[in-house]
Amino acid sequence: MPEGNEIHRFAQTHAALFAGRKVHVDSPNGRFADANALDGKKLLGVDAVGKHLGYNFGRDLIMHVHLGIYGDFRQGKMPLPEVTGAVRLRMYTRTDWLELRGGTDTSIFSGAKWGSLLKRLGPDPLRPGADPAPGFEKIQKRNTQIGALLMDQSVFAGIGNIYRAELLFRARISPWRPGKETSLAELKGIWKDAKKLLSEGVKNTRYVTTIPKDRPHRSARLVLEEELHYVYRRHGKPCFICGTKIGRKEMAGRTVYWCPKCQKD
Ligand SMILES: [Zn+2]
Repeated sequence: MPEGNEIHRFAQTHAALFAGRKVHVDSPNGRFADANALDGKKLLGVDAVGKHLGYNFGRDLIMHVHLGIYGDFRQGKMPLPEVTGAVRLRMYTRTDWLELRGGTDTSIFSGAKWGSLLKRLGPDPLRPGADPAPGFEKIQKRNTQIGALLMDQSVFAGIGNIYRAELLFRARISPWRPGKETSLAELKGIWKDAKKLLSEGVKNTRYVTTIPKDRPHRSARLVLEEELHYVYRRHGKPCFICGTKIGRKEMAGRTVYWCPKCQKD
């Protein structure tokens, strides 16, 4: 499932291609029945919050897209490619096209509905000026494990499975620790690190979370694919810091990875 950094990257790319232009919108498989309402209209801008995209065609004409686990975009230069498979949405101008397959939602939101979505979501570390305090407050009130709380989009918006695992490792906090046992200083550290890692992940398609001095080869260049992350999908392999085998376990339906020694309960 794409995490917030990819969603923000889509917003930037799509805005660069289509914002300020009149676009054609259609739905080859008919699963976006309201495509007609947007066809021929000017796209004003593209907004991203957490894992949600909002294509602004004017007041009460916001096309909401949530990719879920399987949704994905493709783009290219005109002419349009032949429709193959379940294309839910196409957007195109004389020069460029965009296709969406799958996704859990593609629908038109009113301004009020978009506003209430924003209210429901926690602060997004990729939104400039986002205030993390409400997220900190929620975490410090709950007995739920910090690993599950970081994935809860009403706590922070945009953090998924990879960043959850890596942020907690970098903070040396066990994903199993109850939220209320984390200090404000620790939470501020996680937020600052999330801003840094996710912003890097908007620019680069590889999410590198390790720093050179911690990698087995201590190289500024990644020698092995395995050196991308400290714990994510490294279960059974030695921790780069202490050599302990990285653990893997289910937590609230998603797999969590952590070092049982470096990360404190
Ligand atoms: Zn370790």
